[in-house]
Amino acid sequence: MPLLINIRHLEHKPVTLSGELPAAELDLGGIDELIQASSSLRHDLVAERHERSILVQGRLGLKLRCECVRCLKGFEYTMNFDSWSCLLPLEGEDKALVSNDCVDLTPYAREDIVLAFPQHPLCEPGCRGLQAESRTGARLSSGASIAGGSSSAWAELNKLKL
Ligand SMILES: [Zn+2]
Repeated sequence: MPLLINIRHLEHKPVTLSGELPAAELDLGGIDELIQASSSLRHDLVAERHERSILVQGRLGLKLRCECVRCLKGFEYTMNFDSWSCLLPLEGEDKALVSNDCVDLTPYAREDIVLAFPQHPLCEPGCRGLQAESRTGARLSSGASIAGGSSSAWAELNKLKL
């Protein structure tokens, strides 16, 4: 069920869109190797026609499966946009693509989801990585600048593993 808004249906009154969009439609694979969608995109939106644009407002929710950059443990991350809004211009350079009277909201939702991805997914804010178990922590445990370095090192390790 794609996230389509039929512009004609908006001529007289706002239209509600609610349901779930299969994660595959968002095409989130390959953006970040540590992050995958693990649920469909729940949406509960209202679209209304303005003179030269369509305003869409409402809620979006998606679950992600992430891998901790420090300890490589998998964990679930819930994204909730409780007051998402999106303005679709119907004129001008940025005008929304209309096909068969419909505008596809998917790319707009996708863009905001990608922007809100956790930059350095951590299983918990204070995750200390693998140092406790592996005892390689000695060289990781001192100095403030180490955190970034160790996380990229683990990312490298992770690539090798794959
Ligand atoms: Zn962790």
